[in-house]
Amino acid sequence: MNRQEQIEHLQTTKEFDICVIGAGATGAGIALDAALRGLKVVLIDKNDFAGQTSSKSTKLIHGGVRYLEQAVKKLDWEQFKMVRKSLRERETLLKNAPHLTRPLALITPCFNFFEGIYYTIGMKMYEWISGSQSIAKSEWLSKKETLDLIPELKAKRLSSSVLYYDGQLDDARYCLAIVQTAAAKGAVVLNHVQAIKFSKNEDNGRLKSLNVRDLVSEEDSVIKAKVFINATGPFADSIRIMANAKLKSRIKVSRGAHVILPREVMKGDTAILVPKTDDGRVIFMIPWQDQVLVGTTDEADELSENPKLEDYERTYLLEYVNRYIEKTVTLDQIKSGFAGLRPLLQAQLQTAMNADTKSIVRDHEVEIDRRSKLVSIMGGKWTTYRLMAKDTLDTIYTEVLKKDLVKCTSEHQILHGGENYNFEDWQNLIVQYGVSEWTAKHLMKKYGTHAQKVLQLTDNQDDLKNLLSPNHPFIKAEVVYAVNEEMAITTDDVLERRLGLKLRDEIASKVAESYVEEVLGVRMSKI
Ligand SMILES: Cc1cc2nc3c(=O)[nH]c(=O)nc-3n(C[C@H](O)[C@H](O)[C@H](O)COP(=O)(O)OP(=O)(O)OC[C@H]3O[C@@H](n4cnc5c(N)ncnc54)[C@H](O)[C@@H]3O)c2cc1C
Repeated sequence: MNRQEQIEHLQTTKEFDICVIGAGATGAGIALDAALRGLKVVLIDKNDFAGQTSSKSTKLIHGGVRYLEQAVKKLDWEQFKMVRKSLRERETLLKNAPHLTRPLALITPCFNFFEGIYYTIGMKMYEWISGSQSIAKSEWLSKKETLDLIPELKAKRLSSSVLYYDGQLDDARYCLAIVQTAAAKGAVVLNHVQAIKFSKNEDNGRLKSLNVRDLVSEEDSVIKAKVFINATGPFADSIRIMANAKLKSRIKVSRGAHVILPREVMKGDTAILVPKTDDGRVIFMIPWQDQVLVGTTDEADELSENPKLEDYERTYLLEYVNRYIEKTVTLDQIKSGFAGLRPLLQAQLQTAMNADTKSIVRDHEVEIDRRSKLVSIMGGKWTTYRLMAKDTLDTIYTEVLKKDLVKCTSEHQILHGGENYNFEDWQNLIVQYGVSEWTAKHLMKKYGTHAQKVLQLTDNQDDLKNLLSPNHPFIKAEVVYAVNEEMAITTDDVLERRLGLKLRDEIASKVAESYVEEVLGVRMSKI
């Protein structure tokens, strides 16, 4: 993907069928689905692809065992259907980008006989709902079997555990892969382009065009489209009100924090689900690449960009780690961390008088503003991004374009890097390019079948095979590739989302910054 080419496509297209505002998982998914249905689509984001919530998740592809528990306790059929749909999507997400996902084994520690029975029944039900899409069988484990899997667990009070399976994804790169696939199918995709103002038809208030600002060149331009889609997650209300000042806010944000710990805290491949914190949440401790990811919290917050991890969140999360892990983990062992805002839809809120709401499933909602015809897709989660895109476009065909429905095919679309993927090809990378096993495996997992392209950059520049940091497998060629091929514009685009080094190790990432700035040519991190 080349940004200059994308800008030229934008400037030479008179009118798009669809303009999508927001390139997180939801907006990217819509752009891909629309392009696959043959629509002329443009996708913009004022930040980077997955620059906000979509790179700050717990990185689980799941139906949500907690939601299932609630569905059963409250006999809530809608909630139950949502878990079932998410579990079906889990298989699709795993299949369409095998390099960026993996099945994940998790255990729920139990401290007495009854907990063992309760969680065994719960997890069997979770597995039963997923039907033929079940990853593997859940099972009750004795204390010894549990400690064999996770020897770092506190043994004293442990009675048994229940083992079950979900999926894990590299969220920032998964979003990028969706964007790359959309671009390959003809979508125009642009990061660092902000929606500023709509022009409306004076008679009926219907949206005609959108003024946007390229935050890199600071130039303004106008996008004409038949339909404008608001996929701005936590920021959805600002775009809704930009389209129709009479609409009332419908999004509340809930803050979630994570910390990253070194692998020595939990060396195996199995994650821990803490099913109930003192305040009724769940917390995960998950092997994440070469580290351990711990999170998340859940509390009401104000809307802001790039919320920072706070000290009280570090302390809170470590308190739970230390309740479950034998060897005390201290604050100075935290290597990194991040916080994000969940876009929660206030389902009970009265919608504005002029808004016609189409409720597709409880978890997300497609709203068409009757006056401006802005289509807003709100709520949802990473796992259901593709369903959200499908529901949005199906609704647009029938309610806005009033055209015969073109069938959604995204379920079978393998994403960029996932085509003919075979992880074992890491061995060829060693033979062809002489990189270490560590780097070769890392490149396969980040770039899939395009790992070779990253290494081709080293053909005449051996220096690009050098590590960015001695403690991590990343090589310099990845920085060049991110800037040349993946539309990375700022240091955070490179280190946080293309490589993911900043999420793994803040100190190593700081050290790598000067090289990234050298490749970028100018320091762009301010935009
Ligand atoms: C802590 C936490 C943990 C989570 N864990 C999981 C999990 O494990 N599994 C799961 O399935 N889900 C999880 N989720 C939920 C999931 O991450 C979100 O539902 C999903 O990422 C939302 O994606 P989105 O595209 O709707 O929003 P976002 O990713 O926030 O994207 C919206 C985009 O709109 C852009 N934008 C805003 N205003 C403008 C404008 N004026 N012009 C142009 N662009 C604009 C923003 O820059 C942003 O990139 C988690 C969420 C949080 C916060």
